Amino acid sequence: MPEGDSVWKLARRLDRTLLGRTVVRSDLRVPRLATRDLAGRRMVEHATYGKHLLTRLSARADEPDGVPVTLHSHLRMDGEWSVTGPGKVLPRRMMHEVRLVLGLDSGSTAWGLRLHDLDLVATADEAQLVGHLGPDPLRDDWDPAEAVRRLRATPSTPFVSALLDQTLICGLGNLWVNELAFLMGVSPWTPIGDVDVERLVTRAATALKHSATVPGAYQVTTGLSRRGEDHWVTGRAGRRCLRCGTEVQVVAELPNDAAHRRTWWCPHCQPGPGPEVRVASRQR
Ligand SMILES: [Zn+2]
Repeated sequence: MPEGDSVWKLARRLDRTLLGRTVVRSDLRVPRLATRDLAGRRMVEHATYGKHLLTRLSARADEPDGVPVTLHSHLRMDGEWSVTGPGKVLPRRMMHEVRLVLGLDSGSTAWGLRLHDLDLVATADEAQLVGHLGPDPLRDDWDPAEAVRRLRATPSTPFVSALLDQTLICGLGNLWVNELAFLMGVSPWTPIGDVDVERLVTRAATALKHSATVPGAYQVTTGLSRRGEDHWVTGRAGRRCLRCGTEVQVVAELPNDAAHRRTWWCPHCQPGPGPEVRVASRQR
């Protein structure tokens, strides 16, 4: 599932094929942006902020007062980018999922499929879109002390809900928060204030960087890449814990509640409160 490491890898992949290319044709297939035209702008870079992807484009060469712009997108559970070579298009059956088309002067085409929260702002105004987010371990401006401070500020919040809150620390999705609870040896609903938050933040940052940058390590949390053994608890309901042999448990998400997603845990390796302590959070 797309998490901060997924989007970071996607940004590097897009940069390898698109950087320095000029858009010759654009089609933004969301009503609010349908009349905007990105033709004449050069691809400057892809930046990420947690699970948010920022496609930065130059000012238009023929507009003396023009400004660089940033196209924002979010993958959520199912979004995807695809790049096709000269003369190639996506299969017809995928066309209804296309939200974005960028034709480039190389002849290649970048397609955004099932993208969410598409937005276009002046690059100088990116903070409007991502300014609310917490520190991100995959960014150059990563500030672990600030992440610790923000996580400690809500000590009664359950472990998984605190780590999923992108305004506290940014880039961890449901896979990583479940695995980190196991690695820290606490139940997913342990109040975050009862956890060694400094050690947790160090561990989370190391894990996310390793997953994003080491070949073959992507979202492998156990060190074993074999399917069914690549995660400690996530997706392993009813199977034996890889450490102690106890049956791994799962509880369903609370509907429409981003703070209470589906959660897996080993009751032996992860002592602490069970899912009965969950309280539906207010919609944000
Ligand atoms: Zn166990």
